[in-house]
Amino acid sequence: MIVFLILGIYIKIKFEKTKNKEAESLMFNQQISAMLDIYNEPLNASSTEENPPTATSENKTSPEVEARTNSVYLPILLYHYVEPLKKDDALRASLTISPEIFEQQLELINKSKFQTITMSQVASRVNGDFTKEKNIALTFDDGYRDFYEYVFPLLKKYQIKATVYVIYNAINAPDYLTEDMIKEMMNSGLVEIGSHALDHKMLTSLNKNEAKRQVTLSKTLLEKRFKAPVATIAYPYGSFNKAIAEYVEKAGYQAAVSVIAGEQQSEINRFFLARLRPVNNTNLIKKLADSF
Ligand SMILES: [Zn+2]
Repeated sequence: MIVFLILGIYIKIKFEKTKNKEAESLMFNQQISAMLDIYNEPLNASSTEENPPTATSENKTSPEVEARTNSVYLPILLYHYVEPLKKDDALRASLTISPEIFEQQLELINKSKFQTITMSQVASRVNGDFTKEKNIALTFDDGYRDFYEYVFPLLKKYQIKATVYVIYNAINAPDYLTEDMIKEMMNSGLVEIGSHALDHKMLTSLNKNEAKRQVTLSKTLLEKRFKAPVATIAYPYGSFNKAIAEYVEKAGYQAAVSVIAGEQQSEINRFFLARLRPVNNTNLIKKLADSF
């Protein structure tokens, strides 16, 4: 009798689990489908880093998406400033995380047994390594100097890896990282750089040749200057379309990051990987640790 009861409960749990998995996979397909819609249409000026496009769930799943559902749960965090909050600048404050909260986020990442990886490692995972590693990636857009002052010391303290998306023509500019800082951080083995184009122009607003030049030349120049491969790019303002993603692929990048929200990555969105913004608290990291 008890055996049947246990068997019954086991079957019910199994069934529920399968149902959840199906729901999850359906949701992911809808997300990807929404992403593909965004991908195929040029983004307008309102889709910026401050105003990311949101994926809707009304879209029908495309056959292309149904055919390839291999995906990895791999949260990519998107940071801008980590520094003491400047209350006089509302926009900057909205993009800022205080060093104390940032340290709590790093502690939580380690405590939750997340293994941090760089974006070139993310690219390899997305390109066919669908193992169940508990990975997370930290990305910092724009290459501000506060990264060296506040983030790098904490990365060393907690042995956490990060990727910085550098605007090539902003290197050595006031408030931005210097060449020496970047070299020192790369030598630590904890920091990788990616391209954030030449001068942070919205790529979809440029003519074809200029957009191509921003994508291609930034990679070549960064690689020459820092003597390391540049595997990924972050679209300035998160703005891209199909043509731009193709320039990125042709330039030899392995992947690109967008500002579309999500934590599932796949080969399909290799050139517009989803990212999540941890705001000035630890809630997002807690949620990610719980849902892995
Ligand atoms: Zn940016």
